[in-house]
Amino acid sequence: MTDFAATREKFHMPEGVVYLDGNSLGPLPKNAMARARSVIEAEWGEMLIRAWNEAGWMEQPRRVGDKVARLIGAAPGTVVIGDTLSVKVYQALASALEMRPDRRVVVSDSGNFPTDLYMADGLLRSLGRGHELKVVEPEAVADAIDSSVAAIMLTQVDYRTGRMHDMAALTKRAHAAGALAIWDLAHSAGAVPIDLAGCEADFAIGCTYKYLNGGPGAPAFIYVRPDLVGQARPALSGWLGHNAPFAFDLDYRPAADISRMRVGTPPVVQVSILEAALEAWDGVDMADVRRRSIELSELFIREVEARCPQLVLGSPREAQARGSQVSFRFEHGYAAMQALIARGVIGDFRAPDTMRFGFTPLYLGEAEVMKAVDILAEVIGGRLWDRPEYHRKAAVT
Ligand SMILES: *Cc1c(COP(=O)(O)O)cnc(C)c1O
Repeated sequence: MTDFAATREKFHMPEGVVYLDGNSLGPLPKNAMARARSVIEAEWGEMLIRAWNEAGWMEQPRRVGDKVARLIGAAPGTVVIGDTLSVKVYQALASALEMRPDRRVVVSDSGNFPTDLYMADGLLRSLGRGHELKVVEPEAVADAIDSSVAAIMLTQVDYRTGRMHDMAALTKRAHAAGALAIWDLAHSAGAVPIDLAGCEADFAIGCTYKYLNGGPGAPAFIYVRPDLVGQARPALSGWLGHNAPFAFDLDYRPAADISRMRVGTPPVVQVSILEAALEAWDGVDMADVRRRSIELSELFIREVEARCPQLVLGSPREAQARGSQVSFRFEHGYAAMQALIARGVIGDFRAPDTMRFGFTPLYLGEAEVMKAVDILAEVIGGRLWDRPEYHRKAAVT
């Protein structure tokens, strides 16, 4: 049984804040501060370049990848950390397309995060071989998979509504049609139990600054099915993905395993912080996290619907069809969210009218959820959002 009172103690939370945005940027794990200090002072400062060996900087992306692997149902040695998620989308899709040279269609859906679609579009244009990015409604994905499809490229949990795809069923469907399945786990890793190996996903990618609390700009992760990794030619053939980077060969030869998805020098300070942040997951069972997340989300939905009739649930009502976030639609959602944030309840807003709230059992309980609902009910019921300063749009929403 996961001890959520203990995990809560591992995070710094500013006084008076109810943080319902850990799905966008996780809070600061207390040990990350000490780790950042030691990597800068004791390792960089004192060891200098020797730290690549002596502090294990070179292996770190694999070592940290193993910690992520446990949380996403992947075997050790199948996940590596690096770059940003946008870059990892490109890598996964480029490798997948080469493995299906006779097929020209990539299927994604309109609930995908735009950067995934942008990166795919950019890659397909660069290839210049007539590939098509077919973006259908989330409910229409299964029917769009046919023998023309090289790969499906989907984000499991919709960033706006929290709607969750059935990863096992769609992967199976893709395989039956001879296509590969690429899953973006940005809103899944650390949010819901995932069984990557069990559902035989071919590629998976995700970021680590959301539910995994790696901090702003924390690098992404990539998984390749172990029996396919030897065939996955890295499109971004950087030297650290080489079989022997320090042989300095003039010819590129990829590493035999997931290390081939490394590109260049890792952001050591950031990976170190992530490594520390992932310690919060030691002893945590994702099934317990899921159970708590559903309890908190259901409580929130029930209370908001009872007390804020102006808000319309934008997430699936059925808990099993959602990830770990809840969205409500409200015409004045942006201003309402600003008014909430001004009162210490931090969620976020996604255009055109979605107020988004993330539920993260590692550091949230019923008391925070009820406090958030109380304040939301005041803001909505009293039209407290209707002030000029709450209508001014900031760059990041
Ligand atoms: C958060 C998110 C991203 C962000 O990509 P970065 O390259 O890390 O900025 C991409 N895709 C999805 C699905 C996301 O949720």
